[in-house]
Amino acid sequence: MIRTKYLINLSKIIIHTLLFIRLSGSELLAFSEDTRVKISILYTSDEHGWIDSSFRNGGAASMMTEFKQKEGYDTNKAFLLISGGDNWTGPAISTITKGEATVETMNAMHYSLSALGNHEFDFGIENIKKNLSEASFPYLSANFRRKSDHKIPEFVKPYIIKTIQGVKVGIIGLSNVATPGLTKPANVEGYEFLPYISVLTEYTPQLLRDSAEILIAIIHDCSKDIIELSALFKSLGYTFVGTGHCHSELNSTKDGVAFIEPTSNFMKYARVDIDFDKSTKKVISLKEKIEPNTKIAPDADVKKVINKWRDITSKETDVSIGYTKNGIQIDNDILGNLVVDSWLAAFPEAQISMSNRHGIRQIIPVGNITLASIMGVLPFENEIYIVKLTGEQIIDNIKCCKPYVGGLVARNGFWLANGEKLDRNKVYKVVITDYIYSNGDKFKFKGQDSQPFMTGINFRQPLIDLIKTLKTSPDNPLDDKIDKKGRY
Ligand SMILES: [Zn+2]
Repeated sequence: MIRTKYLINLSKIIIHTLLFIRLSGSELLAFSEDTRVKISILYTSDEHGWIDSSFRNGGAASMMTEFKQKEGYDTNKAFLLISGGDNWTGPAISTITKGEATVETMNAMHYSLSALGNHEFDFGIENIKKNLSEASFPYLSANFRRKSDHKIPEFVKPYIIKTIQGVKVGIIGLSNVATPGLTKPANVEGYEFLPYISVLTEYTPQLLRDSAEILIAIIHDCSKDIIELSALFKSLGYTFVGTGHCHSELNSTKDGVAFIEPTSNFMKYARVDIDFDKSTKKVISLKEKIEPNTKIAPDADVKKVINKWRDITSKETDVSIGYTKNGIQIDNDILGNLVVDSWLAAFPEAQISMSNRHGIRQIIPVGNITLASIMGVLPFENEIYIVKLTGEQIIDNIKCCKPYVGGLVARNGFWLANGEKLDRNKVYKVVITDYIYSNGDKFKFKGQDSQPFMTGINFRQPLIDLIKTLKTSPDNPLDDKIDKKGRY
């Protein structure tokens, strides 16, 4: 009897003990879980106005579906949606609206912030102020200064602190240090762009004083160059550095810092998951990936915004000005030849024309050629300049920068369209753009002719005029009228 009672009591004790252990275990577990949080970042860069679906991808509306369905994106959850800048200049829907259509689309996607890219300057400072006032998210640029007082203009912020799941995330943004050479020069007159290292060193302590627990930098510059600063980012305590500008793809961790560039044009996005322990204030783990935008069914809310802007802009841009049977491609010299030849046709006083290869941004699609297509091909607000150069200087620029060239071919020496050999000492008139004049893409014109003739003509107007003049149709397509041969 005593033995039985003893056993019953003993089993009670064991059960209580087990219960206690279980309870305290789960409490302990809950306690440690409470201190660990996951913060997810979705990151795109260089969207370049490709909000509408196209031959490239499904645009912003299908990107939003990718975010929601594949990544569980929900603005009420612990997500940051970030852009690396260069949001606006691109196809007609965005360029004709000077970026307004893209701003409204990014608002509908609930972007948290964007870095200020060099192409944000394409439509001038007043336009930046207007677009930024319409954006529901801030644009960051800690290295953008007014020359007059060396202050950051009021319409941008150097950094922000976002509180997510009780964790303060400090995000600094930087514009491309070479911006004055990467947009229409007049648009950045009176402003300067300070070097990254000094600005990061100056501002990071300020982010920490503002209690930032996780540090993120968004820099509108190429990942291959920015990753070289990994030791600096590590020493300053950064976890993730989003890059852009080069439209390339990089997902790499160096010195414990994640560097990501997710291509461009809403073609791909990156996701970064930061596992953070609030008690130790340490990042426990970091997971990153880059995913494609797969033309998935468009998100209805975002689509509605894009449709609205397509309706507004198509009245102006769906006008047909010609016809192409097979489309005009950019992966060879055909479209480049057409562009530089159109410049010579518009400015017959010049003998030669040159365009940087990167300035031509898309194919002319099959069928009717619309103004929208041409605006997509040459989306920037660049102006035609005419410079005077010697034959020697012309060859110099061809060698350094591999441009598309009009009016000149290299066949055992350089020959002009009139059959004369290019004279290295003679001076010729050369049609270029204000962009490459100001050392864009490393051309040397600025040092060679300090007084260019500024025509005031947008660089796409001659192409529009030439295509109209050729009066092409399905029976008489543009395809048959272009010189398809490389010129050197
Ligand atoms: Zn850029």
